[in-house]
Amino acid sequence: MSKSKGYAALTAKAALVPYTFDRREPRTHDVVIEIKYCGICHTDIHQARNEWNAYLEESIFPMVPGHEIAGVVTAVGGGVTKYKVGDKVGVGCFVDSCRACPECRSGLEQYCTVHTVWTYNARDHEGVPTYGGYSDRIVVDENYVLRLPQALPLDACAPLLCAGITLYSPLRHWQAGPGKKVAVVGLGGLGHVGVKLAHALGAEVTVLSHSLKKQADGKRLGADQFYATSDPETFSRLKGSLDLIINTVSAQIDWNQYLALLKVGGTMVLVGLPEKNIPVGAFALTGGRRSLAGSQIGGIRETQEMLDFCGKHGITCDVEAIPIQKINEAFERVLKSDVRYRFVIDMASL
Ligand code: NAP
Ligand code: ZN
Ligand code: ZN
Repeated sequence: MSKSKGYAALTAKAALVPYTFDRREPRTHDVVIEIKYCGICHTDIHQARNEWNAYLEESIFPMVPGHEIAGVVTAVGGGVTKYKVGDKVGVGCFVDSCRACPECRSGLEQYCTVHTVWTYNARDHEGVPTYGGYSDRIVVDENYVLRLPQALPLDACAPLLCAGITLYSPLRHWQAGPGKKVAVVGLGGLGHVGVKLAHALGAEVTVLSHSLKKQADGKRLGADQFYATSDPETFSRLKGSLDLIINTVSAQIDWNQYLALLKVGGTMVLVGLPEKNIPVGAFALTGGRRSLAGSQIGGIRETQEMLDFCGKHGITCDVEAIPIQKINEAFERVLKSDVRYRFVIDMASL
């Protein structure tokens, strides 16, 4: 074991404070990564505040959040073949899985039916709690490490590891591309990178945001249209017009209203995870053979594909770097949508 420094929530809803903990010594296939930047995903807040306790197992405290990790390899185990010291690498939402179930074998480790080991707030195969990226370093098996695009800056790449793949995977699965009308609901951390990706994939992109405040940004990011959902006119104007809606909103909104915006056969994919259940009427679906679906991050293979795609198209996230001492303030600002569009912690401040 060796000591690692970070910031942790010691109990649910407590402010994050400096925290020292143990990381395992690198095993044969492990990569040791010095963390340079870690994005602040809204999920970190949900988990640190134990907001999903109705759906998940009890959160594990102390909790070191963070699953948008970008850094540099500082050491490798004797059996590592994919990475070497100095490589620019990333770690996303999980650091291991069973590797044997049909999902793991087909590159869908995020849906492992046996045991996905999440990057934090989880236990590894030995039962040891995992600690995330709000820290100085992490030790991860090479098969769960991603290669970051050489030409892109580390800070602006970090959020691709969760926000990027969470939008890329459903955009690819539901075939966003030329001739498809795609809407992104919520222009936050997930939404803003979703607009860039959908645009780069060739789709016609509409942003549905609760006001028009971010309109100029939306257009700059690649949106063809931008509408405020606070304006009832938006829902009559766009009725029956969209092939695909990706809903990133973290709060309770009326999904039925959005389903009515789909064409016949269209799909709305939920990626946002509000705390409470939202009722869906059967007629909202049957009337247009519409689908309501969900999607969770992406597997290792697809995450690498997304990173390579971003490297090719020069896609990064719009970030505001903060010192880790400002983490609690940053959580509050995320809750107020007061960030354009993702905070990343500059780990040099630790
Ligand atoms: P975020 O940066 O806070 O963005 C959420 C956006 O939703 C806001 O920018 C805002 O956009 C909109 N919004 C927030 N409150 C709203 C309200 N009361 N009414 C209407 N719109 C509201 O969060 P994020 O990091 O993108 O994460 C979004 C959600 O996705 C979270 O629930 C997170 O846990 C979840 N998530 C899921 C996955 C997955 O794999 N499925 C992965 C990562 C995160 P506008 O200002 O444009 O309206
Ligand atoms: Zn996340
Ligand atoms: Zn598995």
